Amino acid sequence: MIQNLNPEQAQAVTQPAQHTLILAGAGSGKTRVLTTRMAWLMQQGVSPYAFLAVTFTNKAAREMLMRLNSLLPIDTRGMWVGTFHGLCNRLLRLHHQDAGLVQSFQILDSADQLAAIRRLIKANNIDDEKFAPRDVQRFINAQKEKGLRPQRIEAYDPHTRRLVEIYEIYQQQCEREGVVDFAELLLRAYELLQNHAPLRQHYQQRFTHILIDEFQDTNPLQYAWLTLLAGGQAAMFAVGDDDQSIYAFRGADISNMKCFERDYAKGNVVRLEQNYRSSGHILDAANALISHNADRLGKKLWTDAGQGETVRIIEKASDALEAQWVIEEIRALLRDGFPHDEIAVLYRSNAQSRVLEHQLFSSGIPYKVYGGQRFFERQEIKHVLAYLRLIDNPNDDTSWLRVVNFPTRGIGARSLEQLGDYARQYNCSLYRAVPYMTGRAGTNLGKFVALINQLASQAQMLNLPELIEQVVHDSGLLDHYKADREGAERLENMQELVNAATVFVTEEGLADEVAGRIPITPEAKSVDENGNAVLAAMSPLGAFLSHASLEAGDNQAQAGQAAVQLMTIHAAKGLEFDGVFITGLEEGLFPHENSLAELDGLEEERRLMYVALTRGRKRVYVTLAQSRMLHGKTRYATRSRFLDELPEENVKWLTPRQAAPVVSSAWVGGFGRGGASWDQARSNYGQSSSTGGMASTVAKSGLVVGDQHFRVGQGVRHAKFGEGTVLTLSGTGTEAQAQIHFRDAGTKTLALGIAKLDIIVGG
Ligand code: ATP
Ligand code: MG
Repeated sequence: MIQNLNPEQAQAVTQPAQHTLILAGAGSGKTRVLTTRMAWLMQQGVSPYAFLAVTFTNKAAREMLMRLNSLLPIDTRGMWVGTFHGLCNRLLRLHHQDAGLVQSFQILDSADQLAAIRRLIKANNIDDEKFAPRDVQRFINAQKEKGLRPQRIEAYDPHTRRLVEIYEIYQQQCEREGVVDFAELLLRAYELLQNHAPLRQHYQQRFTHILIDEFQDTNPLQYAWLTLLAGGQAAMFAVGDDDQSIYAFRGADISNMKCFERDYAKGNVVRLEQNYRSSGHILDAANALISHNADRLGKKLWTDAGQGETVRIIEKASDALEAQWVIEEIRALLRDGFPHDEIAVLYRSNAQSRVLEHQLFSSGIPYKVYGGQRFFERQEIKHVLAYLRLIDNPNDDTSWLRVVNFPTRGIGARSLEQLGDYARQYNCSLYRAVPYMTGRAGTNLGKFVALINQLASQAQMLNLPELIEQVVHDSGLLDHYKADREGAERLENMQELVNAATVFVTEEGLADEVAGRIPITPEAKSVDENGNAVLAAMSPLGAFLSHASLEAGDNQAQAGQAAVQLMTIHAAKGLEFDGVFITGLEEGLFPHENSLAELDGLEEERRLMYVALTRGRKRVYVTLAQSRMLHGKTRYATRSRFLDELPEENVKWLTPRQAAPVVSSAWVGGFGRGGASWDQARSNYGQSSSTGGMASTVAKSGLVVGDQHFRVGQGVRHAKFGEGTVLTLSGTGTEAQAQIHFRDAGTKTLALGIAKLDIIVGG
């Protein structure tokens, strides 16, 4: 075990039980050290149940368990290894009574949470101009992440005071409905330990080793939870890299590392400097990029793997062409023997995945999307899940409102308003308020209640996949989507949900927990005097619903099938792949326009790019598109400044490197927020255009831009404006532009360097 480590790593793995901070760069073996330390301690006789190991994504947690499994022949099921949310969920399920929760509490994902807030704002006649639901959501989550309940918030102005009141109302609504949002999972778990000394002491005695991966991204509440759990008895082993901190926008706080060093590790800091992951060019490019950040703890990274291949950069005219190129290149990689799951396509924003997914789908290459366009977030899946949640807990008003009249059952908005009034009046859920309703609305609502009750009684008899089939049928969803001309895909997705449930009950670890199949050691048994509460609290249905909320739907590829990996860069943290595509390197998209207004925004974006680059082992591609359809609009942008921060000797442009184009007319906005970021982008390019070179020259009979030859009078086609005729051509280099009369859209002036124009042959 130790032989495969370098001396610094080995020393970190084998040191005595004490608080330790490992501060080291990407790919230096932090996660390897963390997992090896667990294995090594177990070899020394420490029980598997004495560990609590936490990381940030489900995928990383699974990977950790896999690495452990490969080191030691142990059964890792039932071990406390997971994400913060996953572990807190487990704790709350085990001790739901002490936590003041109903047994079958449901987890609201952020979309659910937003819907709940919208509903609340409406029901309480709150001005949604002054209190936009998203702002309210951000406020509530930020308070929870600071560990603050409404009573403890100091509000000095009327606006904040009102926000606190809304937080309070929101909290009451959640209690009434038996639902818990993501931030609440953490806060509740913290309060549970804080307020219940026996429980706290139990876990403090149990967990003698607490290990935290990706420590740089913990927020204050997570930090407090960990130190409470450690209770001065456990040894905490934290590993992290300040250059990879990418969750400041969610309250992550790098200063936790400094606090941890000061309060716990007390100088016991291990630094690792050799990178074992990436070849030289990739590492040099990443190091050069991150050196543009000012506020760093400072680390060196080197490799003896050799220079390897340069980072390849490709610029395409549109996002569709970018995606097409990526797919062609993936084919080439597969032909060269890269395994499917060693290829990752990364993007800054979830919305970018649609085009990629679409093209991958038609190419027949198996792929998996992590996070984002999540399977469990599709409309029809949410409908089915809403029925399932109501079966599990009929007081869940969010689910109730989602499906009470879907498919339509003649229950109108007015009836629901009235029902809502009763619910408020009697301080109960909508479900409980139904008996107060009279007339036709009362009858129809009564029928809906009967449907839910009948399904709930079926739930006792059927296994989970059967139950889902029954729900799809009895709810009327099946008929509804059958009648819908575009419902075919939705029907398939619902079938896929049945498949997912089948896989879940047979394969997932959670299912083992439910079935009581966890290997119960005497120690594990002592976890709960409520031992049975585990089984009761976690019905297969309940477990599946938690899973659906916590886990991204990974169901595009068949379970177990090797697949190309699609995910946001955030989700790729800690992972590694032989081949990595980083897409959408455009100003405004990456760095993201929203970040530029934030204090540390640009630096956080750069860290994100650093994370992306350092995922690659052998080959990294960086791609960009001149135009992109996002949120229903075509947007034009210049290349990301990050491209100009990569040293020339470490990169290779596979398409001619274009200098920054100049945009003349108002409609070509770029991603940037109005002029500011555009000017920033331009000044940035101003410096580099001398080295960049521009593939545009004036030809006698027209203008050559890239590989296109434009002439006056020529017919051209534009993705958005349609067909038109070139009226004038002017400028060269970055100034090259054309005035074009479009048949339908009128006359426009376009920058030839970025506008995606097809020349109509013979036009
Ligand atoms: P990140 O910051 O991206 O999370 P990390 O520091 O956690 O990276 P690991 O994922 O643990 O790095 O290691 C990167 C790769 O290097 C892994 O494939 C790991 O197995 C390998 N590796 C780590 N240490 C050694 C070593 N001493 N010898 C050979 N390979 C190693
Ligand atoms: Mg790691």
